[in-house]
Amino acid sequence: MAMDSEFMFNPGDQYNTPKTLPWQDDALCAQTNPEAFFPEKGGSTREAKKICGQCDVARECLDNALETDERFGIRGGMSERERRALKNLGPQAVTIAFEKAQAKNR
Ligand code: SF4
Repeated sequence: MAMDSEFMFNPGDQYNTPKTLPWQDDALCAQTNPEAFFPEKGGSTREAKKICGQCDVARECLDNALETDERFGIRGGMSERERRALKNLGPQAVTIAFEKAQAKNR
């Protein structure tokens, strides 16, 4: 059975309600297994990060996760712990960390 794409995995909304942000239409994770983006504690983040590494809207996704203080899942190629480390940094430092992470994820 085909899923209604409007209700597929929606980064930035763990409850899978309809997409509301323009960049979510290009979210690569919406076409994949959402469970990879919410690994068990101590579980591998590799699969999800590899997908983020190919995602055209990864920066928008990361910025949204930082703005909304998203505490769960892999977003913009980073884990919650990695995003927390960016919390008090300026935009330039976030860009450097993001680009470094994405280069590693690819
Ligand atoms: S960066 Fe990762 S979590 Fe964010 S939209 Fe892209 S694939 Fe999904």
